[in-house]
This record gives sequence, structure tokens and C-alpha cells, in this order.
Amino acid sequence: MKYDHILVRYGELTLKQNNRKMFVNQLRSNVRQALIPLKGYEVKANRDRMYIEIDDNVDVDEMINRVTNVYGVRSASPVVKLEKTMDAVYEQAVAFSQTFNAGDTFKIEVKRSDKNFEFDTFQIQRQVGGAVLKANENLTVDVKNPDHAIKVEVRLDAIYMYDTIVKGVGGLPVGTGGKTLLMLSGGIDSPVAGMEVMRRGVTIEAIHFHSPPFTSEKAKEKVIELTKIMASRVGPIKLHIVPFTEVQKQIHKVVHERYTMTSTRRMMMRIADKVVHQIEADAIVNGENLGQVASQTLKSMYAINNVTSTPVLRPLLTLDKDEIVEKARAIGTFETSIQPFEDCCTIFTPKNPVTEPQFDKVVQYESVYNFDEMIDRAVDNIETLEIDKDYDVNKDEKADWMSDLF
Ligand code: ATP
Ligand code: MG
Repeated sequence: MKYDHILVRYGELTLKQNNRKMFVNQLRSNVRQALIPLKGYEVKANRDRMYIEIDDNVDVDEMINRVTNVYGVRSASPVVKLEKTMDAVYEQAVAFSQTFNAGDTFKIEVKRSDKNFEFDTFQIQRQVGGAVLKANENLTVDVKNPDHAIKVEVRLDAIYMYDTIVKGVGGLPVGTGGKTLLMLSGGIDSPVAGMEVMRRGVTIEAIHFHSPPFTSEKAKEKVIELTKIMASRVGPIKLHIVPFTEVQKQIHKVVHERYTMTSTRRMMMRIADKVVHQIEADAIVNGENLGQVASQTLKSMYAINNVTSTPVLRPLLTLDKDEIVEKARAIGTFETSIQPFEDCCTIFTPKNPVTEPQFDKVVQYESVYNFDEMIDRAVDNIETLEIDKDYDVNKDEKADWMSDLF
């Protein structure tokens, strides 16, 4: 079938009457971003829906796949745009029907938003159905459970016809819901947490705590790789890499071994909080999950959360691990996340961390040393990378190597 447009339907935007224009503009821009580097199309968005006009040589499946993965898209269909005559409709409906197999059933579904069109819904349905039956002796009509539904939309500007609807990821367009800072480890959970908030329209920057030489360059590259995968779905993401070794060593000097995990998390949170203010974000996001490990009991969360008044969003809080894994596979981060590289927390994990840390105890341990300066130093020495889907992990190394040459 030769299609000339992709019809894109919006998700919940319909509900957001006041901000509608902003939402539509953002979605159009996100769709354009997702279609790079495809060629031969033009995106036109209006209040209710978006049409992408396509040339003959566009790979329709590829385009549909990219579009339906953009947050804010409810569904998409390859469509044929027709002039507003019944002859054009008959001809195109017959063309659709000729791709069906002998013995298949079909129905004609009509939506008529142009109330002045000369035929009503029922007439169009009957006449188009009749034309298809006349052209194909071995097709029959089944209105309840047909093999094919040929959809005819009579709108003010034209008539559109299609027979496929591909479900989109839904949610809201990224860029319409403010900014958050995602605490990104190399594990399975945090990239999923990031995608969950982005699905609700929120933009993220990511922060990663790195403790060389205890954590290797490979561990850092893994986090960059995860960021690249997320960026391939939502556009470039800033990644802030925090040198965390000094803080971690100091924690191990002053805090009781069983409380080092709690304290490490608290220091991470303090640093994240400073970065939130610097980048003018409104919340922190992490991949915590209730009861999953020692640091994720309610008592732990209370002790860790206590260092900040910034909202901490935990989109995976109540999911089961297999549900998280399923989401990680769907967004494409799972295979990278299970690569065996050490995280700064796993390296310093005590054999027997407290699962029910007492808040006043951890505060008491930490009070032996003034961490403020060290925290400021860590923030001052953050390395910020702008990661897009084609980011070259070895870029910096190459630059050094080349400067040696010249
Ligand atoms: P993940 O799979 O995301 O690593 P996890 O189940 O392994 O999660 P933890 O390692 O306990 O859980 O970490 C809980 C959360 O703390 C992570 O989801 C992440 O948001 C944050 N976090 C842990 N380590 C780091 C790190 N090195 N840098 C940034 N954030 C981190
Ligand atoms: Mg982890």
C-alpha cells in the first residue's frame, strides 16, 4: 500500500486545555528529534493531531516505530489522504481490500467530523462496503470481529483512510513537566526510574558518583552507555560525574561500619541537593524500591532523606523486581545494566549493614567530622558531559592522544 502521511494521535494532551499549545509544540519538536536522521518528510501538528507528510521512498515501518516511541504519542497510523469525493474513497478502499486474503472478512468504519459532507456515516459505510464487495467476490463483511477494518475519516480538510493503528508509548511530551536530577548508578533500576519520570513529561539531568580507583573507568563508561540509551529516546542528557572517593574514605574513617551505607547515601543526597539548586531542577529521582536491600527499608529512607527538603521521587518504589526488569528490557537498558562493573556503593558495602538505622545514631557518627568542605569540593570538581545517542566514550582519550601527535 502506498501511504502519503503518518497520522499521529496525542495522548492525555486532550485534558490539558490551557497548556495545549505548549504541549503540542513540544511534542512536535520531540517527534522531529526522534526522526533524525530520516529524510523525505514534513511534520505538521495542529491542536488535535499531527500529520507527517511522507515521500514515496520513506520506510513507513521505521518511521512508525520511531514516532510511537515518543512520549506523548497515543498511537500512529500510516494513512492515505484523499480528495473529498466518494469516487476517491471507493477507489482507495478497493486498493486496501486487494491486499487482503481470499476468504477474509472486513468492515468499513466511518468517522465524519465534517458535518456538511454530502453523505452521512451510514451511507458512506454502506456504499464503500458495497464497492469493496463488488470488486472482491471472495471477501465478506463481519461488523463484530473482522480480519480488517478499513477506516474512513471525513474531516474538513480531506478524507483520510487507513487500516492499521499502532499503539504508542503514551505519557506526556518530555519538556513539559519541569526538570529533575536522576541519581544514576550502573544498575538496572535507576535508568528505569529516569524513563518513568520522563514518560510524564519531565526532563532529567543525571548525576553519577564515581570513586576511582575503587571504581574503574569501565564503570563510568557503563553509566555513559546507559545515558546514551536514554538519550536515544528523549534527546541529549547532561551527565554530572561526581568525584566521590574522598567523601567515601572519610565516611569509613568516622562512621561505624554498620552505618557506612546509610551515611554514604546521605552524603550522595547532600551533593545531589546542591546540584539540584545549581541546575535549577525541582526534584531528585532515584531507583529505590521498598524493601529491596538494606538501604531501602522505610527506616533507611527516613534517615537518608532527612538531609534534604527537595522532593525525592521514587517511581519504582512499589514495583516487583521482575516488573522493573521488564521495563528495563523495553527501554533497552537491561543488557548494559547487567554488565559486571563495580558501583561505588557495592565496593564499600559493609558485610552486615543496619537495615533499621537509627536516625540519631547516624547523625552522631557524622558529627565527628565536618563534611561541608569536602562536599563543596566534590561539587566543584564535577565533570559534566552532554550525552547524545552518538556520544563517543573514547572522545577525551582520543583528544589527548592526538594532542601528543601534534
Ligand atoms: P540500581 O539498579 O539503580 O543501581 P539498586 O537496586 O542496585 O539500584 P542501590 O544500589 O541500593 O539500588 O541504589 C539505590 C539508588 O541509589 C539507585 O537506584 C540510584 O538511584 C542511587 N545510586 C546508587 N549508587 C549510585 C551512584 N554510584 N551514583 C548515582 N546514584 C546512585
Ligand atoms: Mg546499584
